[in-house]
Amino acid sequence: MKPPYQDSPELRQAVIDACLEMNATGINQGTSGNISVRTGEMMLITPSGVPYEKMAPKDLVKIPLDAGRWPEGQLKPSTEWPFHLAILRAKPAVNAVVHAHPVYCSALAINRQPIPACHYMVAAFGGNDVPVADYALFGSQQLSDNITRSLENRSACLMANHGAVATGESLPRALWRLGELETLAKGYATSLTIGEPHILSETEMQEVIAAFADYGLKDSR
Ligand code: 13P
Ligand code: ZN
Repeated sequence: MKPPYQDSPELRQAVIDACLEMNATGINQGTSGNISVRTGEMMLITPSGVPYEKMAPKDLVKIPLDAGRWPEGQLKPSTEWPFHLAILRAKPAVNAVVHAHPVYCSALAINRQPIPACHYMVAAFGGNDVPVADYALFGSQQLSDNITRSLENRSACLMANHGAVATGESLPRALWRLGELETLAKGYATSLTIGEPHILSETEMQEVIAAFADYGLKDSR
C-alpha cells in the first residue's frame, strides 16, 4: 500500500500491524506508543490505552487535520493526538508518524543527550544530530510545540524523559526510521560506556548527507 493513503480496512489493519511489529521487535512495549497516518484531509490515529493485540480496524480514530468537527461515536484518540496532528499539518510530505518508548532512545532522552554525528546513519534523520525535544507533560499542547520545533529540519527526535518520534513519507518508512534511531541510540549509548565517542566532522557529515540523497527505496514503500 502506497501513499497517498485512503481510509480503508486494509490501511487500518496496516496501522495495527505496524503497532504489533513495534512491540514484537522490542522498540516498544505494552500500550505505550501510538501511530497515525494521513488520509486526505483526515488523520487516522490509534485509540488511547488499547492493547495492540486487541485493537480492531474499527477502533482507529479519525480526526480532521483542521481539528474541526470530529466524527462522533469513536473511541478516545491517543493522548498524543496533538503532536501527531501538528506534524502532519506542518509537513505535507509526511504521511505517517510513529511514537514509541524505545529503551536506548529513552535512556538518552532521560539524560537529555541529543545524538551527535557519532555514526553516518545520523544523516538518515536530516542533519548532523538527532535533537531532544524539551520536556512537557504527555498529551499536552506544550509537548506538541516542543516536538514540532525539534522536527523543523529533522525526520525524527528524542523526547525528554519520554521516548522518540519518527516520521515517514509512508508508514513502513516511519517504522524503519524509528528502528534505525533505536539502533543508533544503542550504539551511541554503548560507546559512551566504553570510552569517548569520536564525532564525525561537519565536512564528513555533509558528504554523507549528499550521498544519502541516492540511498534506499524511492517509491515510498
Ligand atoms: P496512548 O495510549 O494514549 O496513545 O498513550 C501512549 C503514550 O505513549 C503516551 O505518550
Ligand atoms: Zn509516549
